[in-house]
Amino acid sequence: MYQRILLPTDGSESAHAALDHALDIARQYDAELHVLHVVSAAYAEGGPGHATAVEALEEHGEETFERIRERTEALDVETACEQRHGEPHAVIVEYADDADCDLTVMGTHGRTGLQRYLLGSVTEKVVRTSDVPVLTVRHGGSGE
Ligand code: ATP
Ligand code: MN
Repeated sequence: MYQRILLPTDGSESAHAALDHALDIARQYDAELHVLHVVSAAYAEGGPGHATAVEALEEHGEETFERIRERTEALDVETACEQRHGEPHAVIVEYADDADCDLTVMGTHGRTGLQRYLLGSVTEKVVRTSDVPVLTVRHGGSGE
């Protein structure tokens, strides 16, 4: 059923909680894990400080990949990490299609949002538009 699992991450603790679930499923199904970080298009407009902001996000993405690789290597889960630029929700849905992923696992919240909202905007848009099933994980929820 599951051969390629997509974990979109913004480096947040919420996305890291989703990683636990993605890894568990990957191990059960002997599936590959695809980790995707999207450098937001909000920074692609140019203007003062834009290059620095993009670089900082790219660096943050790389650090997140390192943190994830340490875990996936220890568990022997085959992992591909990729960084793309654009509108996060659109890039996530497009990537799932490109890489032929059959499940997306992501946090209910991320780095910027307010916990009082039910779902972060990226997750909400992915749930609405994705062709593949989306498993959403609440950080601090049950199962951790
Ligand atoms: P908002 O961004 O709407 O203010 P938020 O930051 O709390 O709120 P989301 O951005 O929807 O919530 O984050 C929810 C999940 O979406 C994260 O846990 C992560 O899995 C994924 N995600 C968010 N941003 C990105 C990104 N830039 N690249 C990859 N995945 C992301
Ligand atoms: Mn966010």
